[in-house]
Amino acid sequence: MKKQNIFIDFDGTICFDFFWRGVPDSLRQKFESFLFRDNGNVVEDWMRGNLTSEQVCHFISENRGLVHDEILKIFVNDCKTMTVKPEILMAIDRCRKNNNVFLITDNMDSFTRFTEPGLKLKQHFDKIYNSADYGKLKDDAAEESLFTKALSDSNSDIKKSVLLDNSKKNCEIFKKLGGSSFCVENADHVLTLLKMLE
Ligand SMILES: [Mg+2]
Repeated sequence: MKKQNIFIDFDGTICFDFFWRGVPDSLRQKFESFLFRDNGNVVEDWMRGNLTSEQVCHFISENRGLVHDEILKIFVNDCKTMTVKPEILMAIDRCRKNNNVFLITDNMDSFTRFTEPGLKLKQHFDKIYNSADYGKLKDDAAEESLFTKALSDSNSDIKKSVLLDNSKKNCEIFKKLGGSSFCVENADHVLTLLKMLE
């Protein structure tokens, strides 16, 4: 019998690489705020799996006069080459001896298509829950939330479940569901917490 179910967020918790970091700042400025600030609905649809990375790159290129294939190629390469510190992956592997460890992320199709295989993340987690694969976000209403889906799918008792996430809001949601959570500040904080949870 495993001790606990540990749910770990990806972006801002164990990975700190951003999209399109491979393009010069001057080029990224042409579409970054256009997409992430002005078109939050498109980003949300992308995170719910309603849009693909190709469709989002088309949206950007059509509206900002950029070459679709270039934007897409750099995006895909950046997703494949994101990094998680080896110390963190080793700490996760140690935690799995006595705990179930899941990755849970509000993310895009690109995570499942490019990042997860690029980093071989499946080897390090009992299961991966990506919002784009389930059409649900962590902060959806309780019954609809990605957390609720992951908890039931993995047969996890919420009282024996803990979340490591850099989002205060997500940590509050998980607590309201009955679990415990740690709002992560940086990679060292994650390492300390994983050591404690071993
Ligand atoms: Mg995060």
